[in-house]
Amino acid sequence: MGKPTGFLEYQRLSEAYAPVAERLKTYKEFVLRLTDEQAAVQGARCMDCGIPFCNNGCPVNNIIPDWNDLVFRGQWRQALETLHSTNNFPEFTGRICPAPCEAACTLNINSDAVGIKSIEHAIIDKAWEEGWVQPRPAAVKTGKKVAVVGSGPAGLATAQQLARAGHDVTVFEKSSRIGGLLRYGIPDFKMEKGLIDRRVAQMEAEGVSFRTGVLVGSETVPAGIVNDAKEFISAEALKKDFDAVVLAAGSEVPRDLPVPGRELAGVHFALEFLIPQNKANAGDGPNPISAEGKHVVVIGGGDTGSDCVGTSNRHGAVGVTQFELLPMPPEQENKSLTWPYWPVKLRTSSSHEEGCERDFAVATKEFIGENGKVKALKAVRLEWKDGKMVEVPGSEFEVKADLVLFAMGFTNPLGSLLDAFGVTKDARGNAKATTDGVGCYATSAEKVFAAGDVRRGQSLVVWAIREGRQCAREVDQFLMGSTVLPR
Ligand SMILES: Cc1cc2nc3c(=O)[nH]c(=O)nc-3n(C[C@H](O)[C@H](O)[C@H](O)COP(=O)(O)OP(=O)(O)OC[C@H]3O[C@@H](n4cnc5c(N)ncnc54)[C@H](O)[C@@H]3O)c2cc1C
Ligand code: SF4
Repeated sequence: MGKPTGFLEYQRLSEAYAPVAERLKTYKEFVLRLTDEQAAVQGARCMDCGIPFCNNGCPVNNIIPDWNDLVFRGQWRQALETLHSTNNFPEFTGRICPAPCEAACTLNINSDAVGIKSIEHAIIDKAWEEGWVQPRPAAVKTGKKVAVVGSGPAGLATAQQLARAGHDVTVFEKSSRIGGLLRYGIPDFKMEKGLIDRRVAQMEAEGVSFRTGVLVGSETVPAGIVNDAKEFISAEALKKDFDAVVLAAGSEVPRDLPVPGRELAGVHFALEFLIPQNKANAGDGPNPISAEGKHVVVIGGGDTGSDCVGTSNRHGAVGVTQFELLPMPPEQENKSLTWPYWPVKLRTSSSHEEGCERDFAVATKEFIGENGKVKALKAVRLEWKDGKMVEVPGSEFEVKADLVLFAMGFTNPLGSLLDAFGVTKDARGNAKATTDGVGCYATSAEKVFAAGDVRRGQSLVVWAIREGRQCAREVDQFLMGSTVLPR
């Protein structure tokens, strides 16, 4: 700890945002990263705790106090090395991670947490600008071949770790571009896609091969799931050609709401709206679903819902309403009860700030249509009693709705993919594999591993990176009998 009194002297400085009116005109990122000087001051707020709870709260166990100190001292290159030692892609997490490390920070008990995420963002963006992020190809090749199915953060982290261990890695992706939900779920205004492209270039220079537009395992993909594949490879063919296969295929089946009127035009899964928007931003032609001039209702209150709000406002929606089934959480958590864990509290995203009415404890009963198109939504208020929801009698109401977006989460991965590989599923339909002990990340199928949302269910980018890294270690151990890859 370079500055023992830093936490007493300096206030937390959060990253600034471009004004709402300005940022709504584009899909570009609008978070203004800290200057080097500002980041150094924020680093000085770190107390270098004897037990750094931040490190434990972070799913990739970032060595946070060390890089806080290095940034304070102006030793940016060493800060980068420390950051990269636990996280392959800090430019992703430095932008879109909810930062459970900050909830766990000791300063968060009675003050404002260290701005860990903003420091991470500053380190990695400076590193790219300075040209410090370079390919690190393996010195010795093993001659072993690994197939990774899926190119989201779990697949990318697995592939990079295994290539650096000397294996020949091929990533198969059914979409036309690499990145999984980083590419096609998360909007550009949260994370611009050039960030993925330069990592892909780095990984290609490290020997990873990418094959896009290739569907693996299951020939049918249900509606609502992105599939640009022009080529199919069976599970048998992949297992025959590769020494190990890693399934990093995400959890793609969206939760539906089969109430009357579900079939009306204008009622869509969130990704039916967000994926074409990301493709449109990449020059693939206009989004066939427009929110312009419409009353938009988003059902579901998480990240996906928030991204639908931000995208609808950029389209020029007349109004955006977001419904959540659960009651409104408290604005402030009771820190003595919740710290160092992730608290349930009201979270207002930058998209909410751009314009959105939020309504809590509401259930949708029906969509009302006119000429086959949705025009309104009938809902009812809920009371939660002993953990069960009860409709409030006489509380039914109607809201205008020309576009309804379902953002109620994802239930499970494509079952047909897991069946094709003969992978046993858990009770929720995810690939069954443990994360601890001998044979972790291995599925029931010989030489087939699983990591990320396909194994743990829908989650976060940082968890996908963690699982990808840990899975790579297990695959290396399986192929070579020993491994030096970190967990
Ligand atoms: C709209 C939205 C916003 C989100 N925002 C955030 C956020 O702000 N912060 C955060 O931390 N998390 C966020 N998440 C969650 C996060 O994106 C996921 O947890 C994470 O991407 C999971 O990574 P993954 O690699 O396991 O799977 P994915 O990113 O889902 O990637 C899986 C890939 O596998 C491919 N695939 C699947 N089956 C096959 C097959 N048979 N053949 C070939 N390819 C296949 C898919 O096309 C996909 O590209 C968000 C999710 C959504 C939907
Ligand atoms: S918990 Fe907070 S103050 Fe303590 S080491 Fe981590 S970032 Fe620094």
